[in-house]
Amino acid sequence: MRYHIWTEGCQMNVADSSRLSRALDSIGLSVTSDVNQADLIILNTCVVRQSAEDRALGRLNSLKPLKLAKPNLMIGLMGCLIGVHGNPALEKRFPWVDIFAAPSDPEPFLRALEDRLQHDSSEAWRKQVDEVLDDEFGLRLEEAHAVSENLPIVLGCSHACAYCVIPGKRGKEQSRNPKKILQEAKSLVAGGARELVLLGQIVDRFGLELEGSYHLPQLLADLSEIPDLRRLRFLTSHPNWMSDELIDAVAVLPKVMPHIEVPIQAGDDEILRMMRRGYTNSQYRDLVARIRERIPGVSIGTDIIVGFPGESEVAFMKTYDTLAELKLDVAHLARYSPRPGTYSARFLADDVPAEEKMRRFRALEDLQKEVVGNLNAAYLDQSVPVLFEGKPKNRWRGRTPTNRLVFVETDQDLWGQELDVRIRWTGPWSLLGEIQDQV
Ligand code: SF4
Repeated sequence: MRYHIWTEGCQMNVADSSRLSRALDSIGLSVTSDVNQADLIILNTCVVRQSAEDRALGRLNSLKPLKLAKPNLMIGLMGCLIGVHGNPALEKRFPWVDIFAAPSDPEPFLRALEDRLQHDSSEAWRKQVDEVLDDEFGLRLEEAHAVSENLPIVLGCSHACAYCVIPGKRGKEQSRNPKKILQEAKSLVAGGARELVLLGQIVDRFGLELEGSYHLPQLLADLSEIPDLRRLRFLTSHPNWMSDELIDAVAVLPKVMPHIEVPIQAGDDEILRMMRRGYTNSQYRDLVARIRERIPGVSIGTDIIVGFPGESEVAFMKTYDTLAELKLDVAHLARYSPRPGTYSARFLADDVPAEEKMRRFRALEDLQKEVVGNLNAAYLDQSVPVLFEGKPKNRWRGRTPTNRLVFVETDQDLWGQELDVRIRWTGPWSLLGEIQDQV
């Protein structure tokens, strides 16, 4: 039996898909990239923006003819379109969808397969499914993994920023059991992963609600002990929870890469207050200064939403000026769109016209392109360690410790190797180089 997973959205969804994929593999299914060959098609959905939701529904509708032609085909929807509380309206609207599953929850798929594969529905099969579920998605040491694997450590979010659907869709914040995380990390590394990216909506809150004082710095230290693991990253941080202890852990633990993703979202204090972010522009700047002082050569990424309700030209320019002054290494930009059920959708008028949102978005995009182009130019003729992840076309692709994308042309097999690369060309979105080490 073959399955196909289509994934939309953030790295948490990518991690959920890959964990579901491991669970399906471990009960004997095999993956296919061709939907026409699949017996089970899963859409892992995102609703963080209207466009993502529209893409998921468009994709789902496109599968209906296939389902009509192949009645035995199983179609499953998972992720934020369903949410932790389910989505009865969606189930009514798409009666031909067989399985609906909340984010990070493989159980409905495994149980549906159990029912479908009646002939195999023995005690042994049930036991295997239960083991997979007990084992948090059925980890198997012998599996092959990507060089860089996502590892969720905090599920859900309890922060309730005014614009965000995540708390309603992924439920309240919950740190995963540290022992399970370490066990999963070892399993991923044994299967070939060389970098782990620890995920959480507010990843720096890891462990705060668990008993004792086992927090992210301790977890990073313990994960660093895994012999074949070369690199660790974590995202996304929240400015209010980025402690000095965590910054110091990044500074002193050699396997933890000097790259911090910490969103500002807006540069104007009143907009930040309306967004319910819980910090001011100057507090964010102080944090950036602290990070830069303690971690030399660090790269910092941020997220920004333009066109939030009430964002005047003056307010927008505070975002623009902040970005121009801080010269951050990455800015993930988004135009505000009201999402059903959020505070801002219910109580704040979406009063910035679409074309103005686009103009502000483009202005920041142009600014950031120039900033990053200049930052990257400093890499020219430098030698940097690059961990190679794959060869998507005719070039090997890898990343610097600061998470910059590097391409190298070579016939050598560089998979999973960390090698010094001399940078020969730089652009705003990537670097080109040649290998310095002998392979
Ligand atoms: S911190 Fe705010 S933006 Fe991030 S997931 Fe939680 S509610 Fe959403």
